[in-house]
Amino acid sequence: MALTKCRECGADVSSQAKACARCGAPVPVPPSSRWWLWLPVGVVAFLFVVAPALMSVIKALGWETPQYVHDANAAFVACKTMVESRTFRNRTMKDCDELHAQMLTEGERAAKAQRGK
Ligand SMILES: [Zn+2]
Repeated sequence: MALTKCRECGADVSSQAKACARCGAPVPVPPSSRWWLWLPVGVVAFLFVVAPALMSVIKALGWETPQYVHDANAAFVACKTMVESRTFRNRTMKDCDELHAQMLTEGERAAKAQRGK
């Protein structure tokens, strides 16, 4: 617990106190207890600095998720949504699993064919 000077009367006030005991002036919150104000800055910094850096590392190492995996996952999510909302009454989650597996298999085959060129 640190002591700080009251900016109104100059008395020693605990930094934990919300107001000066002598004059009742509010004690300013020390910057360290407002760390959450830096949270948006941190998020923005992450999005614009760390994330692109990470992406370039992932790309350079060849760890990037192939596009067909993204497509298959997107198709699966779309299929699941349609099944759940009963857009197609004769379709079940099993069809979505099959679609997903089929897209992955075909995507992989296409990717292999492209690499073989
Ligand atoms: Zn005071």
